[in-house]
Amino acid sequence: MAKRSLLAEKLDEVKDRIAKACARAKRDPAEVTLVAVTKTAAPEQIREILSLGVADLGESRVQQLTQRAAQLNEFVSRRQVHGVGGGGPAGPMPDKIRWHMIGHLQRNKAKPLIPFVHLIHSVDSLRLAEELDVQAEKQGKKLSILLQVNGSEEAQKHGVAVGAAVHLAEQIDSMPGVQLVGLMAMAAHETEPDRIRVAFSRTREIFEELKWNKIGGTHLRHLSMGMSNDFEIAIEEGATLVRIGSTLFGGTSQDHEGLEE
Ligand SMILES: *Cc1c(COP(=O)(O)O)cnc(C)c1O
Repeated sequence: MAKRSLLAEKLDEVKDRIAKACARAKRDPAEVTLVAVTKTAAPEQIREILSLGVADLGESRVQQLTQRAAQLNEFVSRRQVHGVGGGGPAGPMPDKIRWHMIGHLQRNKAKPLIPFVHLIHSVDSLRLAEELDVQAEKQGKKLSILLQVNGSEEAQKHGVAVGAAVHLAEQIDSMPGVQLVGLMAMAAHETEPDRIRVAFSRTREIFEELKWNKIGGTHLRHLSMGMSNDFEIAIEEGATLVRIGSTLFGGTSQDHEGLEE
């Protein structure tokens, strides 16, 4: 058997753990998309994970996302035109990278982000949503966003309070430039599995409430929950997008907001 890279092995392990969590929850693994969080990854690791067929990449800073998008979108389209070059395994290179903005977003960074981003996970205020709406309309786009909920109800820096989430979702739903497609939550500073689970299940309850009230309509279908240390619990609680960085790429960075294993 050919020697496989460490990243290829890690990716297989993560996919396997996703599949097992889905099996426990009696869910179809096709409902769960892996977003590879590349904020600590080296450029060659990103090219490799793309060549292994991962099409969804997450970044937490606008500048890094837009720079990497410009470079890597070009890399992917070149490979499409010329076919897969010699050397590496002829992996199923995606046609297109879907870039996910997962970190806190400042309003003045909305405009440069919009041309590159597939989904913004971290909308947590009316003012930010309004700015995205205005800028997206100017750029002739309907921008997909998630509302970030502070499901753990502790003193987290970001995320709208549980009690304010439905009302804010309703306001966002009336904006022509943005489309609410779901919710995002972090259980960042929790260590107890039960408390992590509560943060996710509470977020899921808000999601159900939005559905019941037809907020977001048929577009409302995503729960972005789960990172390296808690993605299996998140899947059991209904996550459709898991954001995984350090388990795939190793290491942690100053930028790392989650827990270390
Ligand atoms: C860094 C980050 C992740 C990935 O965290 P890991 O623990 O490295 O998997 C997920 N979501 C957000 C919002 C992040 O900032």
